[in-house]
Amino acid sequence: MNKLFYIETYGCKLNQLDSERIRDGFHAAGYAETDTPELAEIIVINSCAVTGNAEKESRYRLRRIHRANPDARKYFIGCFTEKQEIPDTVFLRGSDKFGISELAANIPPFPEIQEKHVRPLIHIQTGCDLHCSYCIVPYFRGPSRSIPKERILEQVNAAVAAGRREGVFTGIHLGTWGKDQRPKQNLIDLLQFIEKHIKNSIKIRISSLDSNEIPDSLIDYLKSSEMVQPHFHIPLQSGSGAVLKRMKRRYTPGQYRTVLEKLKHALPHACIGADIIAGFPGETEKEFEECRSFILNCPLDYLHVFPFSPRSRTAAASMPEQITEAVKKERVKELKKLSDIRKMRFARHFSDTIRQGILIYPDRVLTDNYISVHLNENSHKMPGSEVNVKLSLPTPSGTVHGILSEES
Ligand code: SF4
Repeated sequence: MNKLFYIETYGCKLNQLDSERIRDGFHAAGYAETDTPELAEIIVINSCAVTGNAEKESRYRLRRIHRANPDARKYFIGCFTEKQEIPDTVFLRGSDKFGISELAANIPPFPEIQEKHVRPLIHIQTGCDLHCSYCIVPYFRGPSRSIPKERILEQVNAAVAAGRREGVFTGIHLGTWGKDQRPKQNLIDLLQFIEKHIKNSIKIRISSLDSNEIPDSLIDYLKSSEMVQPHFHIPLQSGSGAVLKRMKRRYTPGQYRTVLEKLKHALPHACIGADIIAGFPGETEKEFEECRSFILNCPLDYLHVFPFSPRSRTAAASMPEQITEAVKKERVKELKKLSDIRKMRFARHFSDTIRQGILIYPDRVLTDNYISVHLNENSHKMPGSEVNVKLSLPTPSGTVHGILSEES
């Protein structure tokens, strides 16, 4: 019988991709995966430290799993701020984590990873050169490094060969892709290079882009591209100029809105979403209100709202005037309400229309512009297939139903 390993992943798409690489390493070495940590000989917790709560949860799981299976060899990896005294546990931070799979096998090349995902993650970059005052990520991931475009094309080709019709470009700070390449390049160079080679055989979704890394030339390219999906996640973090300054973000609310307006004008059917941090240190009622009314006047279609969570070693952690948990909770609640309204408005706009999408489960389609559609009947097609779906009006709770359509 094969030896068993168990893996649990927290946080971003990059962590998920890292876990896939580690998983493949174990498989290549003859291990089988179990979903029962009590049965495993090797246990991996791939942790996340983006918020204090995320790190707390990963640690809590490690302690619980240790109690349930004290004899297993455990690896606590990924982004975390401090080690703990837990017997038989190895702590590996950041990119050191691949040491684990090397214990079991050599890391297989990226192309072998793709077959398992309905929408495979395509790793284009890691690290970040900035130090936003709340962010711990650069401490773990180091400076921005780009994957060469030929290597990215290999990943895309592998996804195509595995029958995938959409891939997601992922990394920490995608807008910086190419800055470290010689000669220097940029994201448009990469997207054009991929589009030229794949000849409409796969769509690409860009997981996240900063507003100050979306020049007019990129918008012009996106307008004409048949490859890039019309969905852009553009972190805002706050709609108050003073808060953005304290966060050390490099744009003003006005600059952010200008970019979004240009994007919506060029691609009116595109879905645009943002991350928002509620309750950043010193955020006054007036600043929060500025943020809320900024969002109301901004063409945003959904928000991912997080309460501020202090990360040790970051500047924001020691800022005075930390906001109470009760106030953060209230502000998160209010912004989430706003997000639900925007999501509903966006989905309503496309009701009774047919959109291209990817079958995620037999009964679920994700449209090109990021609407999750519940099919009235299961599809017999393979998950990952490209389909056309006719959308109905969202229900009062925001669920969008639909039927597959032969029309396009
Ligand atoms: S841009 Fe700012 S928030 Fe994003 S990874 Fe870099 S430091 Fe963190």
